[in-house]
Amino acid sequence: MKIHGYAALKPKGSLCPFSYEKPPLAPFEILVKTTHCGLCHSDIHLIDNDWNRSNYPLIPGHEIIGTVEEKGSEVESVEIGDRIGVSWIKSSCLSCDLCLSGDTNICAQKTTICNGHFGGFADHVIADSRFVFPIPSTIDSAHAAPLLCAGATVYAPMHRFNLQSHHSVAIIGIGGLGHLAVQFAAAFGAKVTAISTSPSKEAEAKSFGATEFLSLNENLRENQFDLILSTVSADLDWNQILSLLKPKGTLHFVGRPKSTANIDLSALISPHRVITGSSTANRSTMNEMLAFAARKNIQPKIELLPLSKVNEGVERLKTNRVRYRIVFQTSC
Ligand code: NAP
Ligand code: ZN
Ligand code: ZN
Repeated sequence: MKIHGYAALKPKGSLCPFSYEKPPLAPFEILVKTTHCGLCHSDIHLIDNDWNRSNYPLIPGHEIIGTVEEKGSEVESVEIGDRIGVSWIKSSCLSCDLCLSGDTNICAQKTTICNGHFGGFADHVIADSRFVFPIPSTIDSAHAAPLLCAGATVYAPMHRFNLQSHHSVAIIGIGGLGHLAVQFAAAFGAKVTAISTSPSKEAEAKSFGATEFLSLNENLRENQFDLILSTVSADLDWNQILSLLKPKGTLHFVGRPKSTANIDLSALISPHRVITGSSTANRSTMNEMLAFAARKNIQPKIELLPLSKVNEGVERLKTNRVRYRIVFQTSC
């Protein structure tokens, strides 16, 4: 059987129709017939080899929804026909200290679904049954897809920070991750400020739950936030951003620009500020996020495109013209 999708064949290349022979399934693997796949800025970083670790041909796509079509010999956790989500992490060793404590997403031996494996911009994908997620029945597949990466990535630090209603949070960058971060932070009850370079996003940022909307270009008041979550894909003046934190506040990075930030250490030391970062979410946080999103009715604002328009989607995301997540329909 051939799997048909779209692949980049070289760094910064446009995506071309690409097919590969379905390999035999390993014992815990499943064949997933995809229906939807979100377009994340990490797909752009991978296509362009921004992180110097892309493998070509590269079929991007790691916000995947589909149904189980075939199971490996040891698969017990899912049944043929189940609707499931597939995210960034394809597998991990499941036996190191990090995996044993649940942190499979930072295992040194983790593999990723769309780099070194073929991802979700295709009619099928091979996943590991131990790293797929049931989708709550109240969330339709097109709106579920962006939760698998964007939703999980912004929910995880809020969970780790134990975000509460007395906290003042800023979300920088109101894109795919950022517009969900505003919704999640508001659902935790926090006071949410959206910080953006796009004045046209103000009304929508407020509809997502932000009480304030600030432009990165204006003079921003120092010492006002407990938590700043950066979802920006570009490098900023991080010393200016740090100054916005209250004493003991945390600047948390999920956005992954190529940055060699030059931090003024005195802005950290005297006020006891903290800089942290995180990559996607572990499996239990993923399930918790999906349940939280279903209960709080958190929904990405999406634009549905057929997969044949994949290059149009990539171009619009690169030029910040997406409101707020493109989701490709992958079934023909
Ligand atoms: P996105 O939809 O393109 O959103 C990024 C937002 O950043 C844009 O909408 C824009 O918001 C802002 N921005 C873009 N260029 C900018 C610039 N030059 N200066 C200032 N702001 C700029 O991307 P995304 O899918 O949300 O992903 C965002 C970042 O998170 C990417 O670097 C991606 O690789 C990373 N990511 C990390 C993880 C993880 O596990 N840590 C997971 C997923 C994604 P405004 O218009 O509001 O300014
Ligand atoms: Zn992603
Ligand atoms: Zn491990």
